[in-house]
Amino acid sequence: MTASSARQVMVGGCLCGQLRYEAFDPIDAGYCHCRLCQRSSGGPVLAWATLSTECFSYTTGRPESFASSSSGRREFCANCGTQIAFRDERTPDRVDVNIASLDDPARVEPKYHIWVSSQISWFDTRDDLPRYAEDGPDSQPPEQPTDPSRDPSRKQPHE
Ligand SMILES: [Zn+2]
Ligand SMILES: [Zn+2]
Repeated sequence: MTASSARQVMVGGCLCGQLRYEAFDPIDAGYCHCRLCQRSSGGPVLAWATLSTECFSYTTGRPESFASSSSGRREFCANCGTQIAFRDERTPDRVDVNIASLDDPARVEPKYHIWVSSQISWFDTRDDLPRYAEDGPDSQPPEQPTDPSRDPSRKQPHE
């Protein structure tokens, strides 16, 4: 089987194993440095893969979820707390999946940084990827990386 002959299934899950999922065909992937991702993970950054919702499903267990903003919900294991997914009701056809929860996280590589306006000063990654002060390529409509003030209505973090 070659990479082009079949969909490449990716599997992952939470720390304790009560939640397992499968995922296909990530659209893109990036690091998010927003405060909501930092606080909800307890880590300095979250790496997310964006998928079509039909390309992501839980195969074992059902997540709890938390409304982290007016439009965003974060899905996590009720037993061990691992954050697995993020959904925004403004983009109902998309789901973000926490790359580090994959069994093989190296399979999806982040391609940009968003919300570096709240990047923690002591934390950085060694790369030359594009860096967006606020929302990045997933935003609707697309914004200019270096001038988010062109659309002042979009000031919400990765909700
Ligand atoms: Zn768990
Ligand atoms: Zn975020």
